[in-house]
Amino acid sequence: MANDAPQYDCLTCGACCASQSPGESYVLLNEADIQRLRGTGLPILTLQVQDSDPPETLEALPTKRDPNGTKVCIALNGCSGGVNACSIYEQRPRACRVFELGGYFCQDARRRFGFPV
Ligand code: SF4
Ligand code: SF4
Repeated sequence: MANDAPQYDCLTCGACCASQSPGESYVLLNEADIQRLRGTGLPILTLQVQDSDPPETLEALPTKRDPNGTKVCIALNGCSGGVNACSIYEQRPRACRVFELGGYFCQDARRRFGFPV
């Protein structure tokens, strides 16, 4: 049976590691993610959930600017939209593990960089 999955090369794309959010946080983290990220040396942001009563918080990986000036996940090496690699690939958060290559959000991210889908 033919494999219709798109043959995208993540290591020359990285579009999904660029942040679209207006703030300085990107990938949300669960408890298991936080445990896995211990020892990577990466900072973890604690965010106040707006209008929560009682107050609630969420943890997230922060962003940085890549060499092209694009706001990206702090764990990205290289450039979103170019040669790149996740510096914590083995410890990457669940949200990144379940991200579907060729899925809606992948194609949406690729379109933002003008890549074929
Ligand atoms: S947007 Fe899709 S092809 Fe690009 S790096 Fe992410 S999963 Fe890979
Ligand atoms: S943790 Fe790695 S795969 Fe996930 S958004 Fe950041 S750089 Fe990309």
